[in-house]
Amino acid sequence: MRRRRLSRQSASQFPPYLNDQMAKYPRNQPCWCGSGKKYKKCHLNRETQTPIRQHEAIRGFGGVFDEARCLHHEAPNGCSSQFVRAHTISKRGALSAIAEDGHVVAYPNLHDVFRLKGRPTFVRRGVNQATTFVGFCSHHDDSTFKLIDTTPFDGSSKYCGLLAYRETCRELFHKESIPAVVQHAREFDKGRSEVGQHKLQLELKMAEAMSAIGARDLRRQYDLISQCVDQDKFSNCKGLVFRFDAPSPLLCSSCFSLSHDIHGDMLFDLTKNFDTPVPSAWLEILPDTCGTFAFLMWHKDDETIQPVVAKQLLEEDPTRIPSLLMFLAVACSDNVVIRPSWWESLASDHRAAFEAAMGENTTDLALNPNIAKYANDNPVWSSSVTASRL
Ligand SMILES: [Zn+2]
Ligand SMILES: [Zn+2]
Repeated sequence: MRRRRLSRQSASQFPPYLNDQMAKYPRNQPCWCGSGKKYKKCHLNRETQTPIRQHEAIRGFGGVFDEARCLHHEAPNGCSSQFVRAHTISKRGALSAIAEDGHVVAYPNLHDVFRLKGRPTFVRRGVNQATTFVGFCSHHDDSTFKLIDTTPFDGSSKYCGLLAYRETCRELFHKESIPAVVQHAREFDKGRSEVGQHKLQLELKMAEAMSAIGARDLRRQYDLISQCVDQDKFSNCKGLVFRFDAPSPLLCSSCFSLSHDIHGDMLFDLTKNFDTPVPSAWLEILPDTCGTFAFLMWHKDDETIQPVVAKQLLEEDPTRIPSLLMFLAVACSDNVVIRPSWWESLASDHRAAFEAAMGENTTDLALNPNIAKYANDNPVWSSSVTASRL
């Protein structure tokens, strides 16, 4: 009896300074959470409000990522009125090469995230849901990507540059949607204690700040690659191209920040360089007419630590390269799709290694795990490989 009273008391009074602060918070001031609303219309008495249910939360997010806009660098000039569902891993060419019964294994979407409670793993998804975004008008999509949509990979820097351009636009599309996502998620603390409210709002502020840094760096990549597309000049795209004899069961399209080498050693200290854009690279693994091609590429004006990583890759035992690129993809990108039967046939410790590498990819600020060790311990894919420089 006594114990119960005590615990109820401590729940309502903990921490005391918080309750005191909240009691004194002026009702007509902008709310402490940063929503822009008055306190009385926002967090006043939030602990007594009805919690938002899971399906309502997901429904609220839905519209954010379906808001069509053209991200072509000339937009809105020359835009047509129709928007297309653009794909970075094409449905016809690439997804169909690995899909089974209309499904692939991919990163969890919002429904899955709630179901899995944030546990990192891959899930089965319909091919129609995978990797698309509504980020181009039909005119700019047709006129810009004709080469990569209609001809097989030719190994040229232009081909790689166009793939990188479309991927950068996809990432920008998502990154620029995050403020709207955060705004929506501010309501998720309805019914929570004051401490719980502060915890969620702090996490959201952190997510907002991180994504602002990520958006700044991505904008820079976008400007660099747009310039190449605009001038039809791709000689500033540097990197490595790999060609594999075997078809890869894992595909990837990604623009990511690079702060560590393939052994997990830090080359760029983010904590000391918040004002400097983080070095970036593009990684693509896609089907080829006679197997698979992949590239790790960067723009010459952003070149800092990327050549070190490229050199390490070239020095690796070639038999390790296929698995190494797969782990790099999983660690640095959320735009990965996998053939279902291959994923399900993997030994459980290899699957666990993928999930661990994926779990280390938890921020926008490139916490790269020890890719070389993952690949060494988990030889998940083998193929003969040739490498060349861009
Ligand atoms: Zn508020
Ligand atoms: Zn357009």
